[in-house]
Amino acid sequence: MAPRLVILGGGAGGSELAAKLGGREDLDVTLVDRHASHMWKPRLHEFAAGTIDSTLSELSYYMLARMRGFSFEQGEVERIDPAEKRVCLTGPAAPCGAGAVPRQIAYDRLVVALGGVTPDFGTKGVAEHAVRLDERVDADRFRARFIALMISARATGRPAHVVIVGSGATGTELAAHLRQVESGFFRKTGERPRDLLEILVAEAAPELMPGAEETLRRNVEARLHALDIDTLTGAKIAEIATDGVVEADGTRHPADISVWAAGLVGNPGLAGFADFELDKKGRIVVDQRLRSTIDPAIQVLGDAASFTPVGADAALPPTAQCASQQAAYLETAIPSLLAGNEPEPFVYDDRGRLLSLARAGSVGQIGFGRKTDLIVKGQFANAAYKSLQRRHQWTLLGPLRGGVAIFADWLSPAKGAQLKLHG
Ligand SMILES: Cc1cc2nc3c(=O)[nH]c(=O)nc-3n(C[C@H](O)[C@H](O)[C@H](O)COP(=O)(O)OP(=O)(O)OC[C@H]3O[C@@H](n4cnc5c(N)ncnc54)[C@H](O)[C@@H]3O)c2cc1C
Repeated sequence: MAPRLVILGGGAGGSELAAKLGGREDLDVTLVDRHASHMWKPRLHEFAAGTIDSTLSELSYYMLARMRGFSFEQGEVERIDPAEKRVCLTGPAAPCGAGAVPRQIAYDRLVVALGGVTPDFGTKGVAEHAVRLDERVDADRFRARFIALMISARATGRPAHVVIVGSGATGTELAAHLRQVESGFFRKTGERPRDLLEILVAEAAPELMPGAEETLRRNVEARLHALDIDTLTGAKIAEIATDGVVEADGTRHPADISVWAAGLVGNPGLAGFADFELDKKGRIVVDQRLRSTIDPAIQVLGDAASFTPVGADAALPPTAQCASQQAAYLETAIPSLLAGNEPEPFVYDDRGRLLSLARAGSVGQIGFGRKTDLIVKGQFANAAYKSLQRRHQWTLLGPLRGGVAIFADWLSPAKGAQLKLHG
């Protein structure tokens, strides 16, 4: 019997690994996810804003499994038992209340690819009143509220207020997309940006996009201002209220919708699934071959993994770029480990950081293996920005279907921010 490889989580990294290793004679691959279909998370803010819809970007895991030669098991991971080499699953519950039976899946090797979530850092009101873009359902809820707000703004003449807390890629890109969507609500009576929508991006750090290179930061700031998006730095947010965002000094910023886009930590379930060693951000600590410290038969990739390259003083940041590279690494490392060999360690190749700011264009920083990265703009940045999802589609669907999907995407009316590669 071929060794059983179970991959938990079919996101950016897990789905690629399943597609790459599915269909091999010498491995029996099962992918587990709580959802029935796969969505490319780096475009979540575009679903939220409504600049794209799901038809081109959602893929059924059941169909993908058939196509790429792996098994798919839909369910919620509840527990991992390393001693017995089993994963306990439950659900999914059907809308009528009928729930699928709890069950167990045995494995010989396990890959945990369960992603991460946006933490609230204990801030009052975030859980109750803010939108966090972690899953498709969050994007759907946001979009429904946003559309209702825009219709009301058009009817009453009172602009809607959206406040986004956090000026990383998610916050800034969402802001740019919302401004683009605003124009879709204009009548042909000469409305202008801000007539229907006020957007504020609030950042706790002294500058926007903390951690980014200064030229890139300045560039992004200028582009946001060109889009009539207000920014506020040094804003320590103490509370998200029903009607706005409150700073620690009591300053209130009115908001019809507040978005919390500050940081990312490991999937909160990881702490309870097994006795994993976790870092401060709740991610599973792994060695240079992505093996967990509690059991070498369990490997971890993507946002769920805390991987610190040799000589670095911090773990890699959570990006699809990294998850995808780790999936590519495991494609050869897992068969090698199963054959009793010690594969080469995982080496991360930082391909840069790109943002798409809707009609303000794409801008980014691309590393060519040197410390002095290159700031790119315009068509080149746009093309580079698109490459990560293009590669993802290609990996999942293969050359023929992947090519057709890419072409369909190109034909889609969703323009401006599309596919990207920021790290
Ligand atoms: C709005 C936004 C924009 C982004 N833009 C970029 C970008 O431009 N470039 C970039 O590199 N990165 C970007 N990222 C980050 C990127 O999306 C993540 O780093 C990447 O998706 C991580 O991949 P992953 O495979 O580790 O996890 P994920 O893609 O998050 O997948 C995790 C999977 O696990 C499943 N799952 C979770 N818990 C359970 C459970 N208990 N049981 C069963 N299944 C479960 C989920 O359904 C999901 O399918 C962005 C993120 C967001 C939110």
